[in-house]
Amino acid sequence: MLELDSTTQSTDLQDDTQAHYAAKVKVLSSLVLGGEHSVQNDLRTVYHAISGEAIYQVSSHGIDMHNVVQYAKQKGAAIAHWTFHQRANALKQVAQYLLERKEDYYRLAAATGCTRKDAWIDIEGGIGTLFAYSSLVRRELSDETALVEDAWIPLSKQGSFGAKHILSPKAGVAVHINAFNFPIWGMLEKIAPTLLAGVPCIVKPATEGAELTHAVVKDILASNLLPEGALQLICGQTYDLFDHLNAQDTVTFTGSAATGQKLRAHPHLNAHSIPFSMEADSVNSAILTQQANDETIDLFVREVFREMTTKAGQKCTAIRRAFVPAALLDTVQQRLTEKLQKVVIGDPAQDGVTMGALASVKQKHDVAAKVEQLAQEAEIIIGSHLRQDFAIQVAHPEKSAFYPPTVLLCKDPVQAQQIHNIEAFGPVVTLMPYSDLPQLATLVARGEGSLVASIVRNHDENIEQLLSKIAPWHGRVHILDRESAKESTGHGSPLPLLVHGGPGRAGGGEELGALRAVKHYMQRTAIQGSPNVLTQVGHSWTAGAEVFEDRVHPFKKSFDELRIGERLLTARRTITEADIVNFGGLSGDYFYAHMDKIAAAESLFGERVAHGYFIVSAAAGLFVDAAPGPVIANYGMDNLRFVEPVKIGDTIQVELTCKQKTPKPLRDEQRPHGVVVWDIKVKNQRNELVATYDILTLVEKAA
Ligand code: NAP
Repeated sequence: MLELDSTTQSTDLQDDTQAHYAAKVKVLSSLVLGGEHSVQNDLRTVYHAISGEAIYQVSSHGIDMHNVVQYAKQKGAAIAHWTFHQRANALKQVAQYLLERKEDYYRLAAATGCTRKDAWIDIEGGIGTLFAYSSLVRRELSDETALVEDAWIPLSKQGSFGAKHILSPKAGVAVHINAFNFPIWGMLEKIAPTLLAGVPCIVKPATEGAELTHAVVKDILASNLLPEGALQLICGQTYDLFDHLNAQDTVTFTGSAATGQKLRAHPHLNAHSIPFSMEADSVNSAILTQQANDETIDLFVREVFREMTTKAGQKCTAIRRAFVPAALLDTVQQRLTEKLQKVVIGDPAQDGVTMGALASVKQKHDVAAKVEQLAQEAEIIIGSHLRQDFAIQVAHPEKSAFYPPTVLLCKDPVQAQQIHNIEAFGPVVTLMPYSDLPQLATLVARGEGSLVASIVRNHDENIEQLLSKIAPWHGRVHILDRESAKESTGHGSPLPLLVHGGPGRAGGGEELGALRAVKHYMQRTAIQGSPNVLTQVGHSWTAGAEVFEDRVHPFKKSFDELRIGERLLTARRTITEADIVNFGGLSGDYFYAHMDKIAAAESLFGERVAHGYFIVSAAAGLFVDAAPGPVIANYGMDNLRFVEPVKIGDTIQVELTCKQKTPKPLRDEQRPHGVVVWDIKVKNQRNELVATYDILTLVEKAA
């Protein structure tokens, strides 16, 4: 039996003999109110996951939480006045700054028992999330402080009254409470969208692992890349922090359901409708389909194995329940066991070690207790603290946080309760058989909501029915087959562009998911009014708003000279049969509606019509100013719609209106420039809209 009793550590971190450790162990400061605050009382001690030695202590006792909140709101709120691109550029520089210091973080991560590969997910996965969010925002959002979410929503017959939704940074602070398992990624994936939204943050890391969060936050603050007060760190407890929040603030939480539910019910949060987003225990599933062939079984086993051994199973997304067709259960069990027998458990600093320790002895006890509960309904096939299946290559296993990979087999998952409810947060999985699709779907749903499920299938198998049944219970479904396996990022990896979160037991929260996460920290307001007022507040021309005409062609004006609403009404052009024939010859597009008089007469048009792409080309011919000037290039077109057909003899005319201007950051060897979006409307002789779209041009700034 694995030794669980530690003679040197208390399982209750608060039982420390403070005087004893205070002399020897450093105290992590809280990085608040523009300085470092080290507190010497009410200390909690954290131990090295492998040696069992005390490594640091934390306490936030006596820090004035009211001041911390006010400091964020008064100083840190300066980030709301930065534009999206300024925030994104700062974040990119922060990411570069941290990347240069990554080896410091790898050194500290060793104390949490993880291998370098495990630490990579936390450290470089976290920094990668900053890069990803930075480039997403620079690519997708205009350089404004607020976000106009949609185009004009008409609310009147004459067009003088309508609306747009605008998202503004909340005038508050986001409090992020993180779990111990991803001290860096867990913090960065939350602060990236918050800061990009223009909202300051207060981070409260889990005490275990806090040394890593502390190192990274300290470096971010030292970089001076963010406004003062935009990021603060509380190492220790939150005490009365929640009591100082108001309706503009947000709390996010990752950790155990028990803590999350307690915090969510905080009367002050309730009384002030303060949003609380929670990500908690999740009993994630992997499903092997009924027709699985040999290759598919191997894919399934590989995925389950990887999720058990990576970070010693301490991932909120790790597979806890593995559903296997009854007829394939023996094969899966045998292959998984064989693979696990090759795992080398020990100090990751030693060569050949493939799996590290849990983060703390406290976690080891927690996992052991959960395995004992699971074992009331399932048989232990390999591993656990109750057997000797694995040698743990470390001098004093009793002082360390190692827990062996453990597979349980539950033969009657329909009757069982615990295996669907309990998340053993370590290298633990329960295999269980299923008989048919309806039973499988019911069993998966008994997890009561999870972050992720994997369906492992033969590449030609239809899993649509299964997917439709399990999708509502999950935030993400990963479909693995021989085709996707070549490049799959895996069951357990949350990605910046995809939502991370799940319903029910998983907490009901949602993180990441590209710009969705940024919007969580902004208030959406429907603004109603005239086209002119919405043009003014949205910094984007709205149809029906005032236009300005000038004798100087807009393509002759620099980025700075152009005004939003500047309009060019072009000359007219009558479309002839020769145009259609020539365009057909030039493009090779001989579609019947353009070229075949009889077929066209029988079509919905009733006669031959011009190619839509010809109309777009002819429109360009009408609005372009051919001489060299400040317009550098036309680089795209959005929202193209052909509204009415153009027939032979119709006359078209174009309205080109300057809709939006976005300055671009200056790069080496480039002339200063910005993106101008033009609203294009092509109309016919009856003033009917023929085509509408936006074009995007790069326009030079004045010297
Ligand atoms: P936890 O004990 O719930 O702690 C989570 C966070 O909440 C930590 O930062 C913790 O700080 C803080 N906290 C605890 N009590 C608090 C209170 N009264 N007021 C304010 N903050 C409080 O969870 P954990 O220790 O990180 O992990 C324990 C279990 O959570 C795991 O075994 C696992 O089951 C689950 N977990 C789930 C996920 C997931 O995403 N699904 C991720 C990680 C963990 P201190 O550390 O200072 O107490």
